[in-house]
Amino acid sequence: MSGCIFCKIIAGEIPSKIVWQDENVVAFRDISPLAPTHVLIVPRKHLVTFSDFSAGDGPIMTSLAVAVREVAKLDGVLESGYRLIVNNGPDGGQEVMHVHMHLLGGRNIGPMIKRSVPEG
Ligand code: AMP
Repeated sequence: MSGCIFCKIIAGEIPSKIVWQDENVVAFRDISPLAPTHVLIVPRKHLVTFSDFSAGDGPIMTSLAVAVREVAKLDGVLESGYRLIVNNGPDGGQEVMHVHMHLLGGRNIGPMIKRSVPEG
């Protein structure tokens, strides 16, 4: 989609550090890493949020799962562990409107969610 920064990365129009890819998914290093391993796993198909996946997207979901394992293996965090995060929409803190999974590892990532966030 024109104007989408992740579509431009996938198309090779802007530089990125790609660590793994297949026909459905590209995985590249986050430009502003929050952990020693911080990789974004992104479907080539432009979907905005996780809710936009549909029944026909099974092969993409499979590629996402394979990408997680392969990226974790490549970065040596398969055994030490890692966290997957998908931010969706305004309350989810999504900044780039092309669905993506953060894979974070290489250190203890800490509590799942800050206790100071109001519950509700
Ligand atoms: P989110 O808040 O889940 O939408 O996260 C978007 C992520 O994309 C952030 O962690 C950014 O650092 C990252 N990001 C933005 N632009 C780029 C880029 N050109 N290359 C790699 N990562 C990027």
